[in-house]
Parts: sequence; structure tokens; C-alpha cells
Amino acid sequence: MTDLSVPLEEIVGPTYVLRGEAAEDFTHDATFMQHGLLAVVRPGSTEEVAAVVKLCAQTGTPVVARGSGTSLVGGPVPLAGGVVLSLDRLTRLEIDLPNTVAVAGAGVITGQLDEAANAVGLMYPPDPASVGMSTIGGNVACNSGGMRCLKYGVTADYITGLIVVLASGQVLRLGGKLRKRSSGYRLAQLFIGSEGTLGIVTEVTVKLVPHPRHRATAMVGFATVEDAARAVSRVLAAGHFPAALEIMDRGALRLVSDLLPPRFDPDLEAVLIVEQDGNHEEHVQLDLMRIVELLEGADNRVAQSGAERDRLWEARRSFGKVLMAMPHNYFSEDVAVPVASIPEMIRRVRRLGAETELQICIVGHAGDGNLHPTIIFNDEQRPLVSRAAAQIFRDALELGGSISAEHGLGALKRDYAEAEHGVEAMALMHQLKELMDPRGILNPHKVFPEQPADDDFLNRMPGWFPDPGLRSRRTEAGV
Ligand SMILES: Cc1cc2nc3c(=O)[nH]c(=O)nc-3n(C[C@H](O)[C@H](O)[C@H](O)COP(=O)(O)OP(=O)(O)OC[C@H]3O[C@@H](n4cnc5c(N)ncnc54)[C@H](O)[C@@H]3O)c2cc1C
Repeated sequence: MTDLSVPLEEIVGPTYVLRGEAAEDFTHDATFMQHGLLAVVRPGSTEEVAAVVKLCAQTGTPVVARGSGTSLVGGPVPLAGGVVLSLDRLTRLEIDLPNTVAVAGAGVITGQLDEAANAVGLMYPPDPASVGMSTIGGNVACNSGGMRCLKYGVTADYITGLIVVLASGQVLRLGGKLRKRSSGYRLAQLFIGSEGTLGIVTEVTVKLVPHPRHRATAMVGFATVEDAARAVSRVLAAGHFPAALEIMDRGALRLVSDLLPPRFDPDLEAVLIVEQDGNHEEHVQLDLMRIVELLEGADNRVAQSGAERDRLWEARRSFGKVLMAMPHNYFSEDVAVPVASIPEMIRRVRRLGAETELQICIVGHAGDGNLHPTIIFNDEQRPLVSRAAAQIFRDALELGGSISAEHGLGALKRDYAEAEHGVEAMALMHQLKELMDPRGILNPHKVFPEQPADDDFLNRMPGWFPDPGLRSRRTEAGV
């Protein structure tokens, strides 16, 4: 591979090229995958991104776009080495109130975008649990979702414009501040969910919506997980689409038990956290009470103040952080099934846990059928994880679902892509990739299957769990 260090420094300045130890935080993401790289480059503008990509195109050097590295599928891990292009310096943010849109550099942290919108009475709804860490560019690349997506939709539903640097280094400006457009192909959508394999997003324009003035939240407990899952279908079928409808099973509750409301029945098998929002306080409260009634839980707590509401949410939002601080490893699955199939999916995951003796906790955005069965394991159990993950993929597909509702395929799920999409759709995706990135420099080894979709697929994955010390360094780094 060509030594690019000198030309890279000429493009972005020596301060913004990292190598060796200084680049180590960029060799991994929030999973346990890690791979060495040539250099990390931190461009300060779309033009600098274009110049770096052009240089990489001329030399055939792999380029991996990176936001905050919170991917749960190995997405930004540079499995072919090369250049990691960190977008963290692209942080310009404009809230355009008359047009109710925001224009954000790809490196803007999504939570900061939402806070800036809140300050003028607006909101950017897609809210991955990583909203305080992940970037809007990363969210676009993964079509991220979150807790409010049942009512408000996912990242793709909010994008009106993108600036993208193509694999040749050419800059493409797509869309803009219009909320409606029906002139030609919606090319911007092609890049949403493309995980850095078709282009590098440098700027994003998103629609904003009015920030609801009132929220009401409750935690409802159930004697069985199936009762909780069935209650979700009952609420939706009755015509209620709350702002959030989250599920946590007993395994997940135990991990955050310190954060549960005082005297909440500890023997419950599952809880649903439900939130209703709107502008009329009384209506919001009434709607929430109707939903709580429909849920028919064994125990419930309706938050009586903002502080109580924050506490209910803290239990759910802390799950990821608690996992990351544990001495065990974990693999967070991200399947979706039709809502009516949630009870069957949960039954299958629990059976799998019993068969393999792996601890599998379930949290999820139950309102849209998105479950995160999370496999917690120690080093000796490592070989079992591959089989369990494969079985969860197959079960979700058998029930008419998807292997990824919001995290993307990255490296860790790519081998099951064809099982979900079929040969013809994957062939078309391949053709698009070849057309847009003929030398295959953009994020190699991601999205497209490379080895058999069998029970051993993870055990053969390069860069999988290479370094036991990585865990503590990653936690210190905040991802
Ligand atoms: C505790 C925790 C909770 C999470 N909760 C959720 C959740 O609720 N919902 C959810 O959807 N996800 C969740 N995630 C996963 C993750 O946060 C998302 O996938 C997020 O969108 C990644 O953003 P990032 O900036 O960290 O991107 P990175 O991890 O750096 O990159 C992710 C992928 O996007 C590509 N990419 C990044 N930036 C660009 C760009 N500018 N142009 C082109 N490609 C790019 C990378 O190459 C990579 O393939 C969670 C992760 C953690 C650690």
C-alpha cells in the first residue's frame, strides 16, 4: 500500500493526521472488533474530505468513514486497514427556524442537534439510545432509530438534503431544505443506511417538528414476558401510538435494578415503559391512563413529576452503559419482527438461552417490533455466541422480520444479508456498489456477505475479540 502520510498532511495539516498510538481509539467501535490502520485523517471541510478520498481513489487505499465509533456491528472498524476518515471536525450547525429545518455537519452529535432545536420550540425526533455520543452522519449511514420512532419515524424520514463525497472524490449535493420534492429519483435515500460503502456524508439537512409541550410517562410491570408482549399489540390495535413503548425483561431489569422506582415489585418478569406526548396536558395524561388500563399490568407507576419521569427513563437508557461497564463481553442483537409475533420471538430467545446456557437479556422498542436480545458471555462461552446469534437471525426471518432494525449490517451481520434480502436484491446491491465504487475502497468487508451464513460465521470473523485489554481502554474512551 502506498505511504500516504505526506500528502495527507498536506491536505489537512499535520495536526489532523494521527498514526500509531495516537490512532488507537480509531481501530475499534463499541463491539470487540479491532483492526490496524494506516492513518486517521480529520478533515475540516467537505473540500478536504473530497481531496482525501480522491487521493485514496488514485492509490487504491481503503477509506472508512467514522463518526463517534458507537457502532454495534463493527461498522467503522477498518478491516482492510487504510485511512479512517473521522468526521468529528464537521460540526457546523444551523437551525433554520423559518424553514423548520436544521443543517448540520456530519460530525454534529445528534443530541446537540435536538437540544438546539428544542431551544426554539422544535425537535429532531430520531433518538438512538446513543444520542449523546453518536453523530448525525453516523445516524444517516445506519438509518438509526430509537425510542420515539414508533410515533415519529426513523432517520430516513427526516432527511431532506445531503452533501456526499463519492468514491472518486466528486462532491454530490442532493436535495436541500424542501419538505416535498417529486422530481426524479430520491438519490439521497440511497446513501441512508449505506454504512459508508457508497459515499461519505459531510452535511445533512433534516426536517424539524414542533416540540410537544407535555409528556406523561409510566412504567408497567407484568407477571410474564408474553403478557407484556401481548399488551403491546392490544394498545396499538386500540389505535394508540404513544411516543415510546419500550420493553425490558427480567434479565435486563436486574442489571438496572438500582434505578427502578422504589418498592417496584422485584418478581416481575418484564416491564413496559410507555410515554405519551402532546400539547394539551390533560389530554396527554388521560391518554396515558387509558393506555395503562389497556396494558393490564400487575404493577404500574405513573410519573408524577419531571424528576420521576427522568428516573423511569434512566432505568431504560442506562442499560447500554451498564453493559459496557461489566466485566463480561456482550453482543447486542437488533432484530425486528411484526408486532404480533413479539411473544413468539421472545419465547424462542428464552428457549435458546436455556439450551445454550448463555445469559440473554431482552430490551427493545416493542412498539415497532424491534428487540435487542443481548447475549452476555465470558471468554469460554465465546464459540457459543455465533450459534446463538445465527439462531436469533433465523428466527426473526422465519417470523417475517429483519436481522437489523437500526444498527445496520456492518461486519457482524453481513453474512446473513442474503438470507434476509434474497439473491436478486443482493445482486442489485452489488451492481450499485460496483457502479459507485468500482475499486471497492469505501468501507471494505462491510454489508456484503463474505462467508457462509452458518452457525460458525462469527467465529471465523477477522478482527473479532483480538485483545483482552481493549475492553477497559474502550470504556475509558467512552464507547
Ligand atoms: C450504548 C449504545 C446505545 C445505542 N443505541 C442505539 C439505538 O437506540 N438505536 C440505534 O439505531 N443505534 C444505537 N446504537 C448504535 C450506534 O450508536 C448507531 O449505529 C449510530 O448511528 C452510530 O453513529 P456514530 O457516529 O457512532 O457512527 P460510527 O459508529 O462511527 O459509524 C457507524 C457506521 O456509519 C459509517 N459512517 C459514520 N459516519 C459516516 C459519514 N459521515 N458518512 C458515511 N458513513 C459514515 C461508518 O463507516 C460505519 O459503517 C447504540 C450504540 C451504543 C454504544
